Order: sequence, then C-alpha cells, then structure tokens
Amino acid sequence: MEKIIINKIRCKKCGDIIESAHRHDFKFCKCGAVAVDGGKDYLRRCGNHEEWEELSEYSD
Ligand SMILES: [Zn+2]
Repeated sequence: MEKIIINKIRCKKCGDIIESAHRHDFKFCKCGAVAVDGGKDYLRRCGNHEEWEELSEYSD
C-alpha cells in the first residue's frame, strides 16, 4: 500500500505551493483557487483539477 510522505500541490494561477502537514491541516493557496487537506492520512483537494500541479510524494 502506498504511503503519503508529502501532501503538496502548486497552484497554477498564483504559483503558491501549499502543503498539508497533518490530517486536519486544511490550506488554501494565496488566490483561493485550490486547497489541500488530509496530511499524511489522505489526499484531499479542493478546486479545479487543471488549476494545480501535483507535488505529492509517496513510498510503498
Ligand atoms: Zn492560487
């Protein structure tokens, strides 16, 4: 099973990089287009798929 090491995305609109460090660490980028949540437990995203670049890292 894949384990989440880093839960992180980059907003393509404002260029902001946001990372969810733990389960209830919900963060919006500067422009508010996208958000991350879930930390190392699960990957939750808000916003439009085309508007973020996935930067998360996994291990197995
Ligand atoms: Zn943004």
